[in-house]
Amino acid sequence: MDHLVLVDSVRAVPDDGFRKLVMCGRVLLEEETARSFIEMQQAAAGDGIGIRAFSGYRSAAYQKELFIRSVCGYISDGVSRSDAEALTARYLARPGHSEHQTGLACDICRSDSDDADESFSLTKESLWLNDNCFRFGFILRYPRMKEHITGIAYEPWHYRYVGAAHAADIMNNGITLEEYLYYRELTKQLLNN
Ligand SMILES: [Zn+2]
Repeated sequence: MDHLVLVDSVRAVPDDGFRKLVMCGRVLLEEETARSFIEMQQAAAGDGIGIRAFSGYRSAAYQKELFIRSVCGYISDGVSRSDAEALTARYLARPGHSEHQTGLACDICRSDSDDADESFSLTKESLWLNDNCFRFGFILRYPRMKEHITGIAYEPWHYRYVGAAHAADIMNNGITLEEYLYYRELTKQLLNN
């Protein structure tokens, strides 16, 4: 599986050439992603910033369980099934369509916390990640105001490993992985013509 693999509501997680997973703190991540995360965590600590990963690799079965649990939660609040699925899909990818199933994505929070919500964006940890993640090959995968492109609401905690060269291009241009891949493809086609 390529580090630039695109997984979204349309494109499912490919099952070819799956990469090796290793433990990283309390979560599983793809080997290179884990190594880079630890480097990023150490650099952050050097700047007095404590971060940790609270969600990494998820199996297809676990993603399904999370999705069903969320849908059932909405239904028990009186929401219709189709609305419950749509509300859930804003933050949680449907089974088979989560980046977490690739091992290349991790959800990050403050080291003294167990998870994060939108208020994480106001913390110094989040600001540090925004400024520095690309140096370690990570991108903020679901930025603010890009839901129409990514299909997922703003998630200040969700970071995706793509490798340092790609990450610098993406973060410094303020674009999404979708836009980056589109420009790359377009450039390739123009050069071939
Ligand atoms: Zn996530």
